[in-house]
Amino acid sequence: MAHYKHESCGTAEKVWLLYEFEGRSRGLKPHSYCIHCGVVRKISADRAKPMGYYMNILARLGITKVQIRLIVKELERVDFDDAYSMTRSEQKEVFISVVKKYSKVRENRIRASS
Ligand SMILES: [Zn+2]
Repeated sequence: MAHYKHESCGTAEKVWLLYEFEGRSRGLKPHSYCIHCGVVRKISADRAKPMGYYMNILARLGITKVQIRLIVKELERVDFDDAYSMTRSEQKEVFISVVKKYSKVRENRIRASS
């Protein structure tokens, strides 16, 4: 993302878009979007967690410092902790694939702890 923090448009500028919850469409709802980059804000009960939450998990999985650095670097590249455009369940899938890429921790162990 080209800028540090998203800024929502005003209430009047909101756009009506389909709202999904638990994989099912729940009709149209007004969504905010970022006035700088145009990303539409997710409306969801499935809120993304901050990076610190995942750092704690990495520490618990017994991953080395070097591996953690590589994992965090890659997560930051995909705007992993951007609650504006990521949901918790999307984060989980990204987290699992990146941890698998840089460590030998088995998928079911990562899945169970994240
Ligand atoms: Zn933005």
